[in-house]
Amino acid sequence: MKKMDLKKLADSLTEEDIIRLVTELGSDEYKMTNDAIIFKTICHNIDPTNAKLKLYYYKKNKKFHCYTDCGDNFNIFELFKRRYQLLGIKYNFYNDIVLKISKGIRIDDFNNFSNGEEYSSVYEKYKQNEIKVEIPTIPKSLLNAFIFYPTTEWLSEGITKETMEQFDIRYSISGNKIIIPHYNYDGDLIGIRCRFLNDEDIENGKYMPVQIEGVTYSHPLGYNLYGLNLVKDNIKKYKMAIIVEGEKSVLLYNSYFGFSNNICVAVCGSSLHRYQVNLLLKAGAERIVIAFDKEGDSWKEKSKYYNKLNEICQRYNNICQMGFIYDTKNLLSLKDSPLDRGKDTFLELYKNTIWI
Ligand SMILES: [Zn+2]
Repeated sequence: MKKMDLKKLADSLTEEDIIRLVTELGSDEYKMTNDAIIFKTICHNIDPTNAKLKLYYYKKNKKFHCYTDCGDNFNIFELFKRRYQLLGIKYNFYNDIVLKISKGIRIDDFNNFSNGEEYSSVYEKYKQNEIKVEIPTIPKSLLNAFIFYPTTEWLSEGITKETMEQFDIRYSISGNKIIIPHYNYDGDLIGIRCRFLNDEDIENGKYMPVQIEGVTYSHPLGYNLYGLNLVKDNIKKYKMAIIVEGEKSVLLYNSYFGFSNNICVAVCGSSLHRYQVNLLLKAGAERIVIAFDKEGDSWKEKSKYYNKLNEICQRYNNICQMGFIYDTKNLLSLKDSPLDRGKDTFLELYKNTIWI
């Protein structure tokens, strides 16, 4: 085996190595430029979702520079140290940093390191645990303020009454809006959102958190997946999950393919967070298909949209097999979800999933 010291080890890392290591350390996003790879500032931010893309890795000198709080240069070893210290994790420099970066190759600087006893690296445990987010639960009795009433709006779009019952969809008579309860992985109520039906309400957005007696029942959408509590056993069974943007697409999927075959969850936005991917891995997903709403009305916008989906998949491809639905045959209109044009259209789109 080639002899190496720390400097040579740092210099030997490829761009792919850097992306893998910094992603495993917690950066849930990166951007490529000609001379740098830009990551989230995980050097001083515990939670990467709140961090800015201001941690630059310069390809030329193989050093990081944090342009916000840290404001200085450091190498990959130092980034590991800062991350561990920030999270209050006790680490051993050789086992938890050097061996992780060198993929287990022993390094000259540590020739005298006595490795007599078994040592299990904190890195592996750390990687599995990552960020733990507890979203406060809210009492289910709050839903008693609403009745069960399948609206003609959703029935006519193809969502069955049975599906609405299975997902505990309600209706607000006073507000003329559809009520959508959101549950966490374990089935506790954590948020209530609604779909407005009156034109004047829709102006500020079709979907909003519900207000009851002055309290807004919102929750951080990036830390949950709509529908997962109900479909996680199916995801385990089929080892696969389909991710859509909106709650309605989950309900359409359920209506087309049945409750016992439903493997569809919604991010309730148009981005996919690492935390959400981890929730799917926890449920047993080995393959994930992104089925986001169609975007791009010009060639330029279309390729931007394609690249966006491709980038999301690349980001998680080292932990899970990723693919995405891209409407090459023009079966959808702009802003359509892949579920919006019926079961057959979805199956046709799904057949042409682009696997990474
Ligand atoms: Zn920093």
